[in-house]
Amino acid sequence: MQTRIEVGILGATGMVGQHFVKFLQGHPWFDLKWLGASDRSAGKLYREATAWRLAGEMPESAAAMLVEDSKPGNAPRLLFSAMDASVATEIERAFAQAGHIVVSNSKNHRMEPDVPLLVPEINSDHLKLVPGQQRRRGWKGQIVTNPNCSTIVLTMALGPLKPFGITRVIATTLQAISGAGYPGVPSMDINANVIPFIGGEEEKMQQETQKILGDFRGDHIDPLHARVSAHCNRVPVVDGHTVTVSVEFSEKPTEDELRHAIATFSSVPQQRQLPSAPPHPVIYMEEKDRPQPRRDAEREHGMAAFVGRLRPCPALDYKFVALAHNTVRGAAGAAVLNAELMQSEGMLD
Ligand code: NAP
Repeated sequence: MQTRIEVGILGATGMVGQHFVKFLQGHPWFDLKWLGASDRSAGKLYREATAWRLAGEMPESAAAMLVEDSKPGNAPRLLFSAMDASVATEIERAFAQAGHIVVSNSKNHRMEPDVPLLVPEINSDHLKLVPGQQRRRGWKGQIVTNPNCSTIVLTMALGPLKPFGITRVIATTLQAISGAGYPGVPSMDINANVIPFIGGEEEKMQQETQKILGDFRGDHIDPLHARVSAHCNRVPVVDGHTVTVSVEFSEKPTEDELRHAIATFSSVPQQRQLPSAPPHPVIYMEEKDRPQPRRDAEREHGMAAFVGRLRPCPALDYKFVALAHNTVRGAAGAAVLNAELMQSEGMLD
């Protein structure tokens, strides 16, 4: 790319905002030029407003930037959003109305019928919802979202298997504590323990999976006609959400056909060589005790999903385990890849 694109971050001082700051360092297309947060932080330097909680130093270029109020005005056209869900609905809409392209990580707009809920390897054609969104709402800008951090693991694993006709899914998560943000779950609750409840998570996984694996039909998404049941658990793992999955198929594929579909899966981001796209989006691991979060989540810069232990399931047809990095592929990295796809479609011109 000849011309670099200026970008900003809404919610830049928070946990996911910090992941955006880190992920965007040295990005070949995007230049971080603007940081927004609440009026508690506005007017301060990023280093003063932010309790940096990621490994390594706060990048010096961001540390010296002034944090601004989250109001349209000075911000670049392309904004990544990691705002608190209690304020994201109105603020993201205000920016889209003012002509900004809001690539959001927040849950607020994901299930709106005219908002793409995007996983570039799985449903890049859902970006075709955007012209209708702009027409109906009278916006020059737009909102595009990425899924919840556990949904992305499930949909990346199921995406290559969609041609076999997915009819039923039972997914059980083992979710890392970093997915709860900071300070997250109290240590007395999570140390040497499992918490079998994450508020709203099961509903999000079920609905978002159907939308992501659904089909674009002119002006809307026809959701995947599969029954999806999620069980969500918080476990004492730092990074990396594991999901164990049982699936039923209408086409009754063989195990070899499924394995081949996963191992050879490649999609639009790989064909276009988008900067953050992993060369192989879904990696099948033959070892019988993998993938594991500590060993595998960070591989491929945290952008790939790992699948293993594919075997027959006595209840549905097959079962397997899947893993991905929840704060990279499940948050900041997902949104940056979404924006790269949009650039490759000419949507950021
Ligand atoms: P967080 O650490 O609490 O950060 C929230 C951010 O929102 C801060 O930058 C905060 O700014 C800003 N904010 C709060 N009130 C605001 C207001 N009135 N106007 C403008 N900005 C305001 O939250 P987080 O864990 O990063 O999560 C951010 C979003 O990402 C949430 O919607 C969450 O559901 C989603 N998400 C989180 C994760 C995760 O792993 N944590 C994963 C996927 C998705 P101040 O510092 O100035 O208060």
